[in-house]
Amino acid sequence: MERYDIAIIGTGPAGLSAAIYAARGGLKTIVFEKGLIGGQIIVTADVENYPGFNENLSGFEIMEKMRLQALKFDAVIKEEQVTGIGFEGLCKIIETDENQYRVKSIILATGAHPRKLNVPGEDRFIGRGVSYCATCDGALYRNKIVAVNGGGDSAVEEALFLTRFAEKVYIIHRRDALRAVHAIQQRAFNNPKIKIIWDTVIHEVNGTDQVKSLTLFNKKTETISALQVDGLFVYIGIIPNNHLFESRIELDTQGFIVTNEYMETNIPGVYAAGDIRQKLLRQVVTATSDGAIAAFAAEKWIEENEESFAGHYES
Ligand code: NAP
Repeated sequence: MERYDIAIIGTGPAGLSAAIYAARGGLKTIVFEKGLIGGQIIVTADVENYPGFNENLSGFEIMEKMRLQALKFDAVIKEEQVTGIGFEGLCKIIETDENQYRVKSIILATGAHPRKLNVPGEDRFIGRGVSYCATCDGALYRNKIVAVNGGGDSAVEEALFLTRFAEKVYIIHRRDALRAVHAIQQRAFNNPKIKIIWDTVIHEVNGTDQVKSLTLFNKKTETISALQVDGLFVYIGIIPNNHLFESRIELDTQGFIVTNEYMETNIPGVYAAGDIRQKLLRQVVTATSDGAIAAFAAEKWIEENEESFAGHYES
C-alpha cells in the first residue's frame, strides 16, 4: 500500500491550493481527481474577479497554472476515482478504482455539480439543446435564440457570455429579483440582447430532434405560455458532491460539510475546503483560501500527532 502524509480529494481551486500549500510545507502529498483536472471553474470563459489576474484568464488557464504549481512542489496528482474512504483510526485509508493508500490526513475538496431542473424533456434533450455549460456549447448557438434558467451569478454571467454568439438570450427566473451580484445584474440589464422573464418557471422542454420551445408558467399571473428557443442553459444552483462520506461527516441541511475556521470537520485529521463546505461565498478566491488553511491546519495536526502515528502509519 502506498503511503502519503496527506490525501486531497478533488483538483478544483480548493484542492490544488491545498496541494500547493501541503507539498510546499514538506508533506508527502497526493491529490485525486476522477474527472477533469481543475473542477467546475474550468468551464468558465473569463474569470474577472480572481485578484491579480486582471487580463481575464479563462478558468482553464488559471487551473493549469495551479496544476503546474502543485507539481512544481512535488505533489502527486492521480487521475483515479476514489471509491471509499476509511476515516476510522488515526491513519486513514483511501481506496480508488486502481489502488489503496494509507494517509495521515485528508482534505475533502470534492466540490459540487449543477442542479437539474427535473422537468419533462430535460433529460431527453441533453446534448440536443439542453446544456449545463455555456462555455462548452455556447458557440453552437451563433445567431440563435437561447434561454438561461436561474437568477444567480452563474445564470447571469453565462447569459452575458452567450450574447457573444446568440441573437437573443432570455433569462428565465422564478422570482422578480436576481440573486446575482449587482455589477453583473447591471451588465445584463444594459445588454440589448438579454431579456429577463420574471416570476416564471419552466414546466417542459419541447422539440423533436432538437429543442424547439419551452412551456413556461408565470407564477404571478398563473398563466402558461410557450417560448420558442433553440437551446436551454440550466444554471439553477449546485449540489454538493458528498456521496463518499455523507453518512459519516457532519453536513448541513443542504448536504454541505460543516467546518470551523480551520476547515476542520467533525473527524480529527479530516478537513474540507471549497464548494463542498458550508459557506457564504463560493468563489475561486475563497476556495483557494480554504485550501491553504486546510493544508496548514492539517500540517500542524500531523506534527502534533507525529508520535502517535508511529506503528500505525507503517503497518
Ligand atoms: P445560486 O447562487 O444558488 O443561484 C441559483 C439560482 O437558481 C437562484 O437564482 C435560484 O432562485 C434559482 N433556482 C434554484 N432552484 C431552482 C429551481 N428548481 N427552478 C428554478 N430556479 C431555481 O447558484 P449559482 O449561480 O450556480 O452559483 C453557485 C455559487 O457559485 C454561488 O455561491 C455563486 O455566488 C458562486 N458563483 C460565483 C461567480 C462569480 O463570482 N464570478 C460565478 C458563478 C458562481 P432564487 O434566487 O429564487 O433562490
